[in-house]
Amino acid sequence: MNRRHWMKTFASAGALPAVTAAAPARIETEIVRLKLRHTWTTTMSSSEHRDVLYVRYVRDGLTGRGEGAPIVRYNESAGSARKAVESVAPLLAAAEPRHFAEVMRLVFERISGEWAAKAAIDIALLDWVGQKLGVPIHGLFGLDPRQAPVTTFSIGIDTPETIREKVREAEAYPVLKIKVGLASDEAVIEAVRSVTRKPLRVDANEGWKDKEEAVRKIRWLEKQGVEMIEQPMPAAMLEEMKYVRAKVNIPVVADEACLHPADIPRLAPYFDGVNVKVDKCGGLLEAHRMLEMARALGLKTMLGCMVSSSVAITAAAHLSPLAGYADLDGNLLIANDPFRGVRVENGRLVLPERPGLGVTPA
Ligand code: MG
Repeated sequence: MNRRHWMKTFASAGALPAVTAAAPARIETEIVRLKLRHTWTTTMSSSEHRDVLYVRYVRDGLTGRGEGAPIVRYNESAGSARKAVESVAPLLAAAEPRHFAEVMRLVFERISGEWAAKAAIDIALLDWVGQKLGVPIHGLFGLDPRQAPVTTFSIGIDTPETIREKVREAEAYPVLKIKVGLASDEAVIEAVRSVTRKPLRVDANEGWKDKEEAVRKIRWLEKQGVEMIEQPMPAAMLEEMKYVRAKVNIPVVADEACLHPADIPRLAPYFDGVNVKVDKCGGLLEAHRMLEMARALGLKTMLGCMVSSSVAITAAAHLSPLAGYADLDGNLLIANDPFRGVRVENGRLVLPERPGLGVTPA
């Protein structure tokens, strides 16, 4: 690209002036198919694999890596995410990466929806900036990696026999997250309890449509040693949630109801906590904002994830010192993770200390 062409691209992108004279960045996208170790079933879908979008921000000999897992519930696909990233590639190529918060503000203005695409861009930029400055991402946010919490390991809906097998495979994880929300709920929990006494957290993924059913099931779960319930009813059923919450003893956490920072004050009267996901909100900057906002409002904070590789899971893990609960196991559920990053030791997340994301090829 000659100088004239570059200046034209720069002007059309409306980007900020670069404070360094570095060459423009190269933006690369790649759709990667992640194979699940077990068929993954929740109330929403059942699948053998998931397609995610990788974004690479290449500049000054450094490669910032980002990943987004498009969410079907929000009309996203790997293809639509890729198109969204490509639509802002000139802006990203010309922008000054050290102004990443301002760059992401422009990206949010240009792209409507496509939160996973935005997340992939945000992670790639922060990885690059961290590498350039020699600081791990948790350091960019001023967080202490020793505060990283235990992560749950998730067990999808399955036959009792397979559930028992999955629970045995999850021996290294001290807390399990169990997916329910279908007619098989009691059988699922009984299968889990037949092989372990570990604390359980349960996610109904909006599965219970009737408030009395939700109360009955949660009360039964309380007797099974369940310590938290996630999104028992559909996101829109807020008044019903108020009824349910008043009749149960364990914390009720919003997931599908809570996507963006503005949702949090609205949900505070109905839930005890929120599950923040980088793919739902569009990146680490936004997720950080949500965790801080939830804490300020006295809500419990959970950091969750989609089925993803170690790029996205490590990115989220860098924010985990801010979260009371972590459910960052998306990379543990897949058989072909191209990278290594965050590790789990005795259930606790161990963050990389290398600059940026700190991921390395597997
Ligand atoms: Mg959930």
